[in-house]
Amino acid sequence: MRGAVLHGTRDVRIEERARPKIVRPTDAVIRISAACVCGSDLWPYRGNPPITQPTPMGHEYCGIVEEVGSAVKSVKPGQFVIGSFFASDNVCPTCQIGYQSSCRQRELVGGAQAPLLRVPLADGTLVATRDIPSEDLIPSLLTLSDVMGTGWFAADAANVRPGGTVAVVGDGAVGLLGVLSAKQMGAGRIIAMSRHESRQKLAREFGATDIVTERGDEGVARIKDLTDGIGADSVLECVGTGESMQQAIQSTRPGGFMSYVGVPHGVELKGEQLFYSHVHLHGGPAPVRRYLPEMIDLVLDGKINPGKVFDLVLPLNQVAEGYRAMDERRAIKALLCPQ
Ligand SMILES: [Zn+2]
Repeated sequence: MRGAVLHGTRDVRIEERARPKIVRPTDAVIRISAACVCGSDLWPYRGNPPITQPTPMGHEYCGIVEEVGSAVKSVKPGQFVIGSFFASDNVCPTCQIGYQSSCRQRELVGGAQAPLLRVPLADGTLVATRDIPSEDLIPSLLTLSDVMGTGWFAADAANVRPGGTVAVVGDGAVGLLGVLSAKQMGAGRIIAMSRHESRQKLAREFGATDIVTERGDEGVARIKDLTDGIGADSVLECVGTGESMQQAIQSTRPGGFMSYVGVPHGVELKGEQLFYSHVHLHGGPAPVRRYLPEMIDLVLDGKINPGKVFDLVLPLNQVAEGYRAMDERRAIKALLCPQ
């Protein structure tokens, strides 16, 4: 089969790869209905960290089960399934309290920008839909695998409450879906921080009530202006840089909640600042598996349409253009069609 492989900085290629197969009895192999490029794929694409060996890319996936190992009980060939980018057993003490992305058996799922994918721990990782969904729902269902699940976790971890004030730092796909999630959770006021017109438009469509274009100290000052001088109840940090973390902490009111879901790169926090901020911090890789059943129902019932973040659709063999367009911020997120 032909799948995406990263060879070095800004060098992603479609090339022949071994067909995935059942390695352990708990595995499944699925035929990918649609895949996509993640904001976090851009870090190694940009050489941070540098690529040391050819790496199969992609960790967001949904599709039809092709084959299962002898120990798999909850999914069967022919079913449409969605899973998280971290495989989990869903039964260990950590999974039981809802942190499947820290499962004691967790394993990264990789190589999803391809026609077929091996998923470890299939019973604990994959969630099947009742029926095969219609084509038009595939983009939204695909987002649940990571980007929407991460936006949802960002809103949940920042304790978004009905009527509350929310600020979202970052206008990538995760930040935009953090806006959608906050809206779905009943936030009263949602402030999106964005300088890009097309992203501001989508943020408003997803439920943003205010847009702040300033960054750094000026951005913080604008959030304070909009919140009676105290800061937002909930702040979602969806970037992962030192500057965005600072901006998020300072935009949160004393006693408020800040979540951080952008993979940190060079972030250092000062203990003294944290001590006096009185801010609750909660973040990490999103436990997507916890939210999958609820999010699948919201999509199938037409209550949310997170698939709108895909503003570029390409056949899988043009994956390099998908990375380029996102790297240059010409596209918010690229959908890849294997067939
Ligand atoms: Zn577990």
